Order: sequence, then C-alpha cells, then structure tokens
Amino acid sequence: MSEDLPIIGKDALGRVIKDWSKKPWWGIDRKKIEWYPKINYDKCIGCGLCFITCANRVVFDWDKEKKKPVVARPYNCVVACTTCKKLCPVDALEFPDKEYMQKIIKENKLLAKAKEILKNHNLI
Ligand code: SF4
Ligand code: SF4
Repeated sequence: MSEDLPIIGKDALGRVIKDWSKKPWWGIDRKKIEWYPKINYDKCIGCGLCFITCANRVVFDWDKEKKKPVVARPYNCVVACTTCKKLCPVDALEFPDKEYMQKIIKENKLLAKAKEILKNHNLI
C-alpha cells in the first residue's frame, strides 16, 4: 500500500516524503483523526531527535532560521504512535489523550471489526 502513495517531495535531510494522509486508518479517512504531535516551543531545545527519528513518515521538517522542528505533515503521523514524545528530552511534544483514541475506537466499532478479522483467520 505505501508503494502506491504519492511522493510529495523531500525534507531538509533529503528524505523522500510520501503522502500518508491518503492512507485510511481502519477504513477511516486519516484527515478525520486529529492525531499528531504539537510542539511546545517554550520547551523545545532544537535537539533534532524527533525530526531525525521520524524517518519513514517524515512528519517533521526543519526551520533553518529558528533551528527548530516544525510539524509539516501532521496527517503523515502514525495514529496512536508516540515515539517522538518518548524520545524528547524536555517533554516538548504533546498528543491527544488516551480518551480521544478510545472515543474513535468506540464510534467506529473497531472492537467488533478486530474480532471479525481474528475470526476470519481462525485465531479466536
Ligand atoms: S508519533 Fe511517531 S509517526 Fe508521529 S511524528 Fe512522532 S515518531 Fe513520527
Ligand atoms: S525532540 Fe523535543 S527538544 Fe528535541 S527538537 Fe524535538 S521537540 Fe525539540
């Protein structure tokens, strides 16, 4: 599936950027899910760990003047991923709380869908 995604450019490190916002999540339009990092610039020290680490989805880009990351492609973010937040040394990255994702799971009946997939593969 990722092979089919359009290439939309390169980031400041020359990495190829694909438009992951075109890939639905559990059948839900990715752009209807507000899951992505927000940078608290009062805390960010510009270490670059988030920007460099998010190498596949390339959610961040780099502001060369301010020497800080920017969330350039929010809907490229993997839904429910928090890797960059865990790596940030100063806790400058914020995400929606757990309740937000639980609401999406409930509204879209994902538990029933998961059960069906497991059943169809004779796993339950
Ligand atoms: S949460 Fe994961 S996918 Fe999203 S920006 Fe951070 S490292 Fe990238
Ligand atoms: S990991 Fe944290 S401190 Fe480092 S650049 Fe990213 S947001 Fe800023």
